[in-house]
Amino acid sequence: MIVADQKPLEEIIERVKDRRKILVAGCNECVTVCEVGGRKEVGVLASALRLYFANQGQEVAVGEITLERQCDREYVQQAREDVEAHDVVVSLACGVGCQFMAEEYATTPCLPGVNTKFMGGKVDRGIWAERCQGCGACILADTGGICPVARCAKRILNGPCGGSTKGKCEISKEVDCAWQLIVDRLKSLGRMEDYEKVAPIKDWSTERAGGPRKAVREDVQL
Ligand code: SF4
Ligand code: SF4
Repeated sequence: MIVADQKPLEEIIERVKDRRKILVAGCNECVTVCEVGGRKEVGVLASALRLYFANQGQEVAVGEITLERQCDREYVQQAREDVEAHDVVVSLACGVGCQFMAEEYATTPCLPGVNTKFMGGKVDRGIWAERCQGCGACILADTGGICPVARCAKRILNGPCGGSTKGKCEISKEVDCAWQLIVDRLKSLGRMEDYEKVAPIKDWSTERAGGPRKAVREDVQL
């Protein structure tokens, strides 16, 4: 899933303070799971904005909507009536959803209400951790299912580096060395021969650094 953090309220207010009809738009997918942009958070932000404007003695209408997915045009189009009734949208979806809204509604500004952080999952209550950087050429089969691209600070493909100490990364004693995790996993899988193989030079053109990407499924009829 995509993980995000809500922007500070002051930053959102600064962006919308001159507007009179604000629509707060949530998404039922990843941002609901990471608790920054679902129906509940839409309600909380909308209430905070109403309170702020009431305290300022300003009449501002704050609407609420939560779409099934903001990264899907079909759902984004269902918001037309709500979007057209407001003069700005604050999207609590990830950066993808916010852009899909912006592309669909060319004359209504769509502002991000969250900071999109990474692709990851929940590892503890209230804690999400990065697991994938979408490199476009997955090597998990060779690394025991642990990603050195996302989890090694140096993105080393033949690790560990000399900074690995007692299972921790040189960047912090709080951070596991990804390559220690990989070695431990390969040992428990009885696959240490995979560790002995030298990983070939990775083709980074499939990654974000290689430019914007598009996945095309030939069998899908649009
Ligand atoms: S190797 Fe690439 S695609 Fe696979 S988990 Fe890591 S970043 Fe994601
Ligand atoms: S200590 Fe481990 S995780 Fe940290 S940079 Fe070196 S190999 Fe990567």
